[in-house]
Amino acid sequence: MITLKIYEYQAKEIFKKNGIPVPINQLSENGVDAEKAAKKIDKSVVLKSQVLVGGRGKAGGIKFADNPSDAHKTADELLQFNIKGEKVSKLLVEEKLDIESEYYLSVVMDRSVRKPLIIASTEGGVDIEEIARVTPEKLVKYHVNPFERFLPYQARDIAIEMGVPNHLISKTGAIIWKLFNLFKKYDAIIAEINPLALTPQGLIAADAKLDIDDDALYRQKEFMDNESTKKDEFAYVELDGDIAVIGNGAGLTLSGMDMLKLYGGKAATFLDIGGGASKENIARALNIVISNHKVKVVFLNVLGGITRADDVANGVISVLEGAERKIPLVIRLTGTNEEEGQRILNEAGISFETSMEAAASKAVELSSK
Ligand code: GDP
Ligand code: MN
Repeated sequence: MITLKIYEYQAKEIFKKNGIPVPINQLSENGVDAEKAAKKIDKSVVLKSQVLVGGRGKAGGIKFADNPSDAHKTADELLQFNIKGEKVSKLLVEEKLDIESEYYLSVVMDRSVRKPLIIASTEGGVDIEEIARVTPEKLVKYHVNPFERFLPYQARDIAIEMGVPNHLISKTGAIIWKLFNLFKKYDAIIAEINPLALTPQGLIAADAKLDIDDDALYRQKEFMDNESTKKDEFAYVELDGDIAVIGNGAGLTLSGMDMLKLYGGKAATFLDIGGGASKENIARALNIVISNHKVKVVFLNVLGGITRADDVANGVISVLEGAERKIPLVIRLTGTNEEEGQRILNEAGISFETSMEAAASKAVELSSK
């Protein structure tokens, strides 16, 4: 898995854009800038080292300053720092919050069940492992069904379960809801606010973390490996769009849907034919989606492991020959007997792609014709 990590200041820009309150802040690269920023903010500030490693506070990477000249001096010090081997070259100068309580909120992808997991606690400010160890009863976990819309009332229920004071239930719920939507929108691996600070001005994300999945291809492979031990199992869901997504393995099929979304396409189906899909299963899957008249294009996304590419090719051809209607097909096919599968498709005049990106963008292109 290749994870794209971004800095706190970048994550906060994204959080802000998506409606999550963040402190007034300004990025600085030297003492003079930091002094100016503190002057502009016009109250006590916190200077935060911008590094990608975690546990920055404990490592001494966060300092407070009461006035602009103090901010200048402190910034000069911090910019000499090395935090766990990472050189500090940027500081985020922020208004110092008057923190009454620290909450914890995050959304992560729970790989074991392939569902986003929301984790929330009123015991924030320390890392999640510590919350789990010291006050596990204060940890709320909520799995989101990836095929249903996550609704604001569900986010509010999480806030209630956290045990936030009554007057903060809807505000906390709104932030949870926004954090979840942001997680989805940016294809995140984790979106975290720790601490979500309760201040006299209300709830503010004092820290922000957003790790983004930068290699969907690798992700699929990993899912595939887990998937391939299972026997064939069809999982079919109808959705609102016009592109049928078929894949072997739930993870791969989901990745195909994500990729479509990235290129602006909308899935009409989610059809997982299982890990060791046979030629018969491919044929059956194609027939199912072709008979769905909302489907304008079929995006068949197959990573051969147990599944043989030549079997897939033969299955596809047999179905197209007898299909009740003509429908454009985009095939992403790799794996065992790959060349043979591609040769068979070529001979039949069907194009194929070996990368999911190329196949997804082609499917979207065809669907808008
Ligand atoms: P991390 O150590 O990298 O997670 O950095 P954070 O930004 O989460 O800050 C660590 C801790 O510093 C927080 O949990 C707070 O206790 C404290 N802190 C950070 N910003 C402020 C602030 O504006 N005001 C106050 N009072 N404390 C802060
Ligand atoms: Mn933090």
